[in-house]
Amino acid sequence: MNIILFGPPGAGKGTQAQFIVKKHNYFQLSTGNLLRDEIKLKTSIGSEVEKLISNGKFASDQTVNILLRKSITNLKFRDRIIFDGYPRNVDQAKNLQLILGEFDQTIGHIIFLNVSRDIIEKRIMGRVTCEKCHMTMNKFFNKEQIDLHPCGKEFLKKRKDDNLDVVVARYDTYMKLTNPVLDFYSKNANFTKIDGAAEIEQITYKINDILRV
Ligand code: AMP
Repeated sequence: MNIILFGPPGAGKGTQAQFIVKKHNYFQLSTGNLLRDEIKLKTSIGSEVEKLISNGKFASDQTVNILLRKSITNLKFRDRIIFDGYPRNVDQAKNLQLILGEFDQTIGHIIFLNVSRDIIEKRIMGRVTCEKCHMTMNKFFNKEQIDLHPCGKEFLKKRKDDNLDVVVARYDTYMKLTNPVLDFYSKNANFTKIDGAAEIEQITYKINDILRV
């Protein structure tokens, strides 16, 4: 079964997805990472989305759906995907159901990480990401992890869209377009809301509990 990790930017979706990958042998499908890879590789998709991302806007559904389909149809990841950053609007949520249905796959759990805007700002402003392994760390909350990171400090970069102006824009976009997806999912039996402001380990513990069911 597949899992959706859902929540505002900076809620900790990527961090928790990385734990699930390690412990439960899942594949993390982060549409944000896929789009950043396209920008790094200077592809046509990359040049189309670069400006949108750096302004806190969304890439088009059509573009993101192309990348999504590639991963869902990859047999290696079959029914073992954590969706991190997808769906981001109601049309994407409907599209996900359609594609998964088409390939006879299901959504086992929808986990919503609920975090307030002031916490999000603090988290995003301290975030650094490894360009090599995509691991995210926080220079305010976990400096030791940064110092000991196995890929080496030279790969640790602050994301271009992790600055205050863009964070505000991303949060606004989230409230307008992504928050309505909550209504779409919240009545499902497999929907769980978690306090995303809790300690990372506590959140991981709760998620592990959900996945054990
Ligand atoms: P993230 O790494 O999930 O924070 O995503 C970074 C940025 O990539 C977002 O602010 C959007 O501009 C873009 N993006 C990621 N996922 C999607 C999506 N599902 N639909 C549209 N744009 C996306």
